[in-house]
Amino acid sequence: EITMPRPDHPRVLCVANQKGGVGKTTTTVNLAVALALHGNRVLVVDLDPQGNASTGLNVPHHAGVPDVYDCLIDNVPLSEVAQPVDGIPNLFCVPATIDLAGAEIELVSVVARESRLARAIAAHPEKFDYVFIDCPPSLGLLTVNALCAAQEVLIPIQCEYYALEGLNQLINNINLVRQHLNPTLDVSTILLTMYDRRTRLADAVEQDVRNHFGNKVLNAVIPRNVRVSEAPSYGQSVMTYDPGSRGATSYFEAALEIAMRGVNTGGTA
Ligand code: ADP
Ligand code: MG
Repeated sequence: EITMPRPDHPRVLCVANQKGGVGKTTTTVNLAVALALHGNRVLVVDLDPQGNASTGLNVPHHAGVPDVYDCLIDNVPLSEVAQPVDGIPNLFCVPATIDLAGAEIELVSVVARESRLARAIAAHPEKFDYVFIDCPPSLGLLTVNALCAAQEVLIPIQCEYYALEGLNQLINNINLVRQHLNPTLDVSTILLTMYDRRTRLADAVEQDVRNHFGNKVLNAVIPRNVRVSEAPSYGQSVMTYDPGSRGATSYFEAALEIAMRGVNTGGTA
C-alpha cells in the first residue's frame, strides 16, 4: 500500500484548456477519486454546463437540483449544494445543471463577476485538501471565475498534432488574470492525456510539451485506454471501475506526483 501524503495547505486546482475533448473532465474525476481514496478530503466543482463531471461521479444534476449556478448567481453557500459522492468517502461534488448554461451571460451584469466562485470557496467553513474545478471548453467568465478561485492551473494536453495550438490563448488569459485579479496564480501542472504509444506523433508531441513546459509536466502520462472511456457510462471513475487498468494506474501515478509536489513546499512545486 502506497501512502499518499496530504497537502500542508489547502489546494485549489483549476483544470482548464479551452479545447474540448482533451480530457479535462476525465482528469478531474479520476484525480479527485484517486486522492479521496487515499485519505484526502476532496471537492469537485463542476463548472461546465454539460455537467460531465457530475455524470462521471454519479451525482444527480437534473434540472431543479441546487447547483453551482445558485452559488455563482444567487450567493447560495457551496455547502448547500455540494453532494457526497456515493461509494467514495471524503469526496464531494458541486454539480452543474442546465441552469449553468445561462450563467456565462448573466454573470456579465453581476457585481464582482470574476470572483464569485473564489468567494464561494473562501466562505466554505471546511478547508478541503483539494478542490478541483472542471472548466468548460471556453475562456469566458466561467473559466475566469475558476482562474480567480484557484492557486494552481492544471492543463491537460491531448497528445495530438494540434496540441499546442490554442494554448497561447489560454496562457495569455492566465497571465491577464494573474496581472489583474489573482497575482499568485501558477500553472503548476501539465498532464499528457490520451497518449497512444504506437504513434511516433504522440512521442513528438510529448517532447514538444516537455521542452516547452519543463518540470511542470508530470512524468506520468495517461494512455488512451478503453476502460477510461467506458467508466462514466457505469457512473464510475476508472479508479473504481477497473483499478488494475492502465488508465487507472496512470491516473494514480499522476495523483501521487501531484500530492508529492504539494508537501513541504510552502506553495506549489
Ligand atoms: P474534456 O472535458 O476536455 O472535454 P473529456 O474528459 O470529456 O474531455 O474526454 C473526452 C472524451 O475522451 C470522453 O469521451 C472521454 O471518455 C474520452 N477519454 C478521455 N481520456 C481518455 C483516455 N485516457 N482513454 C480513452 N478515452 C479517454
Ligand atoms: Mg469536460
